[in-house]
Amino acid sequence: MPPTVVNEVDRLLAGRTRDIRFSGEISRLFRERSWAQTAKIIRAWMVWVVVLDVLTLVVNALLLPTEIVLAMLAPAAILPPAALITAAVFSKPRSLWVQGLAIQLGLFLILLSVALVGVNAGGEFYERHLTIMLFVAVTAIIIFPIPLEWSITIAAFALGFYLVLQLQNPTVPTGSALAGALFFASGVVATVVARRTATILAHKTFLLELRDRTRLADLTDANSRLELLARTDPLTGIANRRWMMETLNRIWNDEAILVKGAAILMCDIDHFKLLNDSLGHAEGDRCLVKVAGIIQSSLRDDRDQVARYGGEEFIVLLPGLDEQKATTIAERIRTRVEAASLPNPRSTIGPYVTVSIGVADAGPNDEPISAEQLQRQADEALYLAKKLGRNRVVRYAPNFSPPNR
Ligand code: GH3
Ligand code: MG
Ligand code: MG
Repeated sequence: MPPTVVNEVDRLLAGRTRDIRFSGEISRLFRERSWAQTAKIIRAWMVWVVVLDVLTLVVNALLLPTEIVLAMLAPAAILPPAALITAAVFSKPRSLWVQGLAIQLGLFLILLSVALVGVNAGGEFYERHLTIMLFVAVTAIIIFPIPLEWSITIAAFALGFYLVLQLQNPTVPTGSALAGALFFASGVVATVVARRTATILAHKTFLLELRDRTRLADLTDANSRLELLARTDPLTGIANRRWMMETLNRIWNDEAILVKGAAILMCDIDHFKLLNDSLGHAEGDRCLVKVAGIIQSSLRDDRDQVARYGGEEFIVLLPGLDEQKATTIAERIRTRVEAASLPNPRSTIGPYVTVSIGVADAGPNDEPISAEQLQRQADEALYLAKKLGRNRVVRYAPNFSPPNR
């Protein structure tokens, strides 16, 4: 959601409920959100008005004298097409002015039709149909969730028809017509006010919904950032030990690992302490970042995993590789680190940074072994690599005698 909308939502919610007014983007979002429901209500109302109009006409035809029924027929015929066309306009989203025009014109014709049925029939039907017309208008005002101005127009049509036609009602004196109009006007105005309150409450609900949506998005965002932080080593940007342990636990019993085996490499920078001591901790940090990059670029992107295991140690998981292939990758890492010529002036091996790597694998035909056991084997192989002079790759062998630490 754009920040301007977020700010506007907060501003409106901070103010008084009755002062809530929608404009611009929020107004558009609200219409988009409520359109389907509004249109459904309007369409259903229109269809029911047609059904009632036709039913009333049929009942009248059965009960009333023919000349009265004939007098009712012409004005009653205005209603069905007006209502059905309005319903059709609300069958799909259209621009606001088309909707406004349709509903106001539709109601004008519907109310006129109901009123004229009474006027044409005359006698007791005159006033009765004007009252029915007001009732029709009131239901529309109450249930249509439309802009206030449109509701007011509908109210004005209804009261206008009532007043004008009652003043011409031969059986009603002027004073009585005015009093009746005033009486009904108070009811219609109360209806418009109730409609306005309902609209404002709907607006407030929508604002709360928008705010929830923003908060949820913020929270999801913060969560994924936290998740990333929790599994990343901040210095090198590669995964951390915790993540690797979780990954190992998760995938260790995978079909693929069981069928194809896996290898683990433990890589440790040689004489790193001497590098720190001679060139400083900051240079040590830069060296860690570079070595992490070299290890990562020596792996198969899509399958192998590397993590910083601790200080200057890295653990690599190579799914589906036998010891031979794993050793080749380990050797590649070792030579690339050496070839990078990162300075380590006091190292006893040479002037540059080197790594020692222990390799252990769990083949598909071997005795099943846990991830921790395999990791321990790689660790033991690494320890031997250190003992044998560093800057080398050592494979764990079954008859390997665990070194005494
Ligand atoms: P070896 O060849 O036997 O592995 O010797 P080493 O000096 O590499 O190993 P040792 O375990 O004695 O020292 C590791 C050093 O790594 C000690 C510690 O200060 C340093 N270290 C651990 N974490 C960091 C880090 O994040 N940044 C830097 N610059 N140094 C670190
Ligand atoms: Mg070391
Ligand atoms: Mg170490």
